[in-house]
Formats: sequence, structure tokens, C-alpha cells
Amino acid sequence: MIEYQIIPIHPEAHLFKVEMTVAETDKAGQLFSLPAWILGSYMIRDFAKNIVQIEARSGNKKVPLEKVDKQTWRVHAEGGEITLSYQVYAWDLSVRTAHLDITHGYFNGTSVFLRANGLENEPCRVEVLSPAGEAYKEWRVATTLTSTSEKPLGFGHYTAHDYDELVDHPVEMGTFDYAEFEVNGVPHGIAITGRHNADMDRLCRDLKVICEHHVGFFGELPKMDRYLFQVMAVGDGYGGLEHRSSTSLLCKRSDLPCVSVEEVTDGYRQFLGLASHEYFHLWNVKRIRPEVFKQADLSKEVHTGLLWAFEGITSYYDDLSLVRTGLITRESYLELLARVITRVMRGSGRHKQSISDSSFDAWTKFYKQDENAPNAIVSYYAKGALVALALDLTIRRHTAGKKSLDDVMHAIWQEYGRVDLGVGEHDVERMAERVTGVDLKDFFDTFLRSTEELPLADLLSDVGVGYKLREAISSEDQGGVKKINDKPLQPKAVLGARVTSDAGVPKIAVVFDGGAAQLAGLAAGDVIVAVDGIRATASNLHELIASQDIGSSIELYAFRRDELMLFDLPTLRAVDDTCELWLEQSVDADLLAKCDQWLQ
Ligand code: ZN
Repeated sequence: MIEYQIIPIHPEAHLFKVEMTVAETDKAGQLFSLPAWILGSYMIRDFAKNIVQIEARSGNKKVPLEKVDKQTWRVHAEGGEITLSYQVYAWDLSVRTAHLDITHGYFNGTSVFLRANGLENEPCRVEVLSPAGEAYKEWRVATTLTSTSEKPLGFGHYTAHDYDELVDHPVEMGTFDYAEFEVNGVPHGIAITGRHNADMDRLCRDLKVICEHHVGFFGELPKMDRYLFQVMAVGDGYGGLEHRSSTSLLCKRSDLPCVSVEEVTDGYRQFLGLASHEYFHLWNVKRIRPEVFKQADLSKEVHTGLLWAFEGITSYYDDLSLVRTGLITRESYLELLARVITRVMRGSGRHKQSISDSSFDAWTKFYKQDENAPNAIVSYYAKGALVALALDLTIRRHTAGKKSLDDVMHAIWQEYGRVDLGVGEHDVERMAERVTGVDLKDFFDTFLRSTEELPLADLLSDVGVGYKLREAISSEDQGGVKKINDKPLQPKAVLGARVTSDAGVPKIAVVFDGGAAQLAGLAAGDVIVAVDGIRATASNLHELIASQDIGSSIELYAFRRDELMLFDLPTLRAVDDTCELWLEQSVDADLLAKCDQWLQ
């Protein structure tokens, strides 16, 4: 048994104090280490950098502690019991690390619990203590770690069978709001931290619908005592991380539903999509998981070409299940889908990187995006979701609707997730072929391992959905559902760059391959001063350029660092990178039935 005790020792200084006791240690010098990354977020984050003080004792005697590498210590105590004491600085408001102040505390085990190397399979016990003082007497604890006390949401002792389990249950503490509902007889909680006005009853109602849908989809809820949606509501932010019986979500408080608003706003739709995504992960990635993620080495990168299947397929089903459950309309779903297509079409990186490579290189490319990212990489989330859609529609086409991706996922759950068999690099492909009887070799070679465009217009026509690409009509245009009686567009000149507003001053963030900005020699970081003799602002820049005739050029002044430069900007029209989808009006009964099969 490895014993831990954690206390927010100085919330105002963002410091947790951890004590860890190991009864029997390595005579040759016991190693202790902290992970460099957390499952579900594929980037080296070096959590050990936040350990600010550490010491070791054996009995009452201080013993020497030697640093072996950036995240590993060796304690020389000739075996026997060792107690480590250390403090962890926690001031990263994300779902991946730890955060502590006088309003709440949050941590992932990977940020705070050292691992006793070689003893990873030992059971663990954690005592979670409240910060000292009157100010904290209302604080409660939300986690799905197994509690040994009767009091729900209380401070006290928690247990885990091994280190992996210990660090897969984040812990929230503070004065969060809490509500519960049941799915398959298992209590599901939602804890919301941060100021908000959310309608807790509605959240419970809608989340229950999504959870029950996913349980029905896979045929069962994996074994667990309880599940928790742990939500941090902030002014601006978005993110989620999946765990084996909980998820940590970060969202805008305005995305949560208010009591007075009945409709599903764009923000609430996004929140439901995020919750749906993380809950789908209970099966796809937490239990149906790549072979290499079983007992994953958390000290360094672990590569797989399969993230498209774990994130892409999950991204496909997260929104699809919102329309299948009736939480959103078909038009609303097509709007979401059109926006995903638009996001993919706007990056020329899709011509350079396959989603298999994008998966493999997630550590250094997708997770470390710079100003050239749209030109160099493709998202295994967005393109992965489109490959999942194309795969689903291809299977439906070749089996006359008798099989679908649903059947493939169900079988993968039965044969891999359910029995905890790791998924090999080609097993998803093999299973898709076996379950459907369709020869999909070309499909996978082309759409996973090459950069060829997906035939979405053709495939979507099978289910009565129209598809069109057009140019963007404004810098806010994300694509969506086609409006009937739209006027034909007048081609307009565009900059060919993504621009941010630096206190109202336009600054180039990304220069797109082949666009006007690149041809003129503009670069990321350039601050645009004037266009055609007129002072440019973040709000008038696009209009200044759009008002020029296509096929000429204009003078554009910009600062590069502190040097004023003159650029000759060609006036080029926007490329057709914005997707519109629509439900065809006059379709026959057969097509309508196929659409129903897909969306119901
Ligand atoms: Zn995900």
C-alpha cells in the first residue's frame, strides 16, 4: 500500500503539499518520478517542473535525495519505509494539470502524485484534506476515486487499485454546485465550479439523454460505481479531458443553459457536443484503446497512427448523437457538419499530411501549432471526423444500408474494449472489413495514408444531403446550412491571411499558402498600417481590401518588427473553402429512408 496525503497548504500561493509514504522500498535506492504527460493530451508537459520543494525521510531521519533526470529522484535509504514531502505549484487553469486559489482547488494525479518506480501495481490510499481556516469550511470534494467514507462529496480517504487508477481520477474541491441523475442505475453527477447561472435540472435532463444514447449504442455501460461531469465555467475557454469514470470540462459560462432560455443556443449545442464527446470516450479510447496506451510509458512520447480513430470517430459521433437523440434538429446538425468541413477545407496542410501521420506526429505538430500550422498539418479530430463520416456512408452504400460504422464500433467494443485487448495499428481497418464484408483496403489506403480529398458530395447525396463549396462572405463566415433564395455572390478580393486585433490594430497571425498576403511577401507578426492610402483597423481591413477590383493590386503599408515596409498586394478573390449543406427537398422515399436510418 502506498499512502498519500494532499492538502492545499497555501491556496493563496497556489501550493499543494503532498506527503507520500512507501513501506518497502528498493535497497539499491528507490526511484520516484512524475509523469511528463497525461493520457488524452499528447504533449510533453513536464509536470515535475512544478515541484518546488522536496525532501525525504526514513523513520525520523532525513535521507539524501538525488535528482536523476528532469522528473526522477533517487532516495538512498537502504530499503525500508520512506516518506517524501513536497509542494506542488498549481496555477494552470486547464483540464490537464492543477489549479489552486482561494476559490477552489483542482488537480490531476499526474501533476501531484509521485510514482514509486517498480511499485506501480501497489494499491494506493489518498487522504484529501481541506485547507485550514474558517474561509474553507464550506468546501466539498468532487471525484470518482473510491471513497472509504460514508459522507458524499467529503474530504477524507480515497483508494485506488494501482497508480494508473490513482492518476485517472481528477479531484475538484471548493464550493461547486452539484446535481445528480441516474444512467443504467449508476449515479451520474455534474459539479460546476465558477460563477454561472446554469439550469441544473435541464443539464441533468439533457446529459441523461446523451449518456443513455451512448450506453444503448455500445450495449452497456462499462462497470463503474459512479460517473462525474466536472465542469469549470469561465468567461472564455473551451476544453475537455476524458477519464475512466469522469471528465473534466472547461467551458464559457454563457454556453450553459439559463433557466429562462428554452432553445438550444449555439453555445449550449457546443457544450452538449463536448459532453457527448467525452462520454463517448468512456468506450472509445479509455477502454477500446491502442495497444501502446496500455500501461503507457508516461515519461516520454508514445506514438500511434490511430488517433484519427479515437478522436476522429469520437468527434463524428459526438454531434451525430445530438441529432439522433433529438436534442438538436437535422438542420442544426448539418450546420455543425458544414463547419467541420469548412475548417478542414481552409487548411492547405490537408494536402501535405495524412491523418495517419497527423496522429503519429501529434506530439510535435498538432499539439505544438505555430503560425504555419494551417499550411502544414491536418487535424486528426476534424478530418478524422470526416473520414469517419465517409467510412460510415461508404459502408452503408456497399451493404445497401444493412451495415454501418455503428456495427463496427459495437464489434470493436465487444472484441477489444470489453475484454481489455489493446487495439493494434491495423485492427480498426481489419474489423471494419470483417464486420461489414466490404473491401475497404482502397478506402483506408487513400483516406488514412494519403492526402486525397474525401468524396463527400458524392457520399452525402446517398442520404439526400446537398453539398456545395463557395467563397466566404465575411471573416466570420464559418459555413453552414444553405439559405434558400440566396443571391449569387459577387467575387471579392481577400487578404489571404488570418488577422487578429491587437487593441484594434490588425496583426497577421497566419499567412495562407498561395494567398495574396503570401504573394505580396507579408508575414505572420506584421502589423498592417494602411491599405490604399487609408488607415487600416482590425474592423475595416477586410472591407478596404474587398472594395478593390479583382485582378489589380493595391499598396499596403505594414510594420515588420519596427521597420515600415510597403507591399504590393494583388487583389485575388477568395477560394471556395466554405461548405454549405442542405436537406434536398424533393427526394424519393428510398433516399428519405436512408437519411432516417443515418440520423435516427
Ligand atoms: Zn477527445
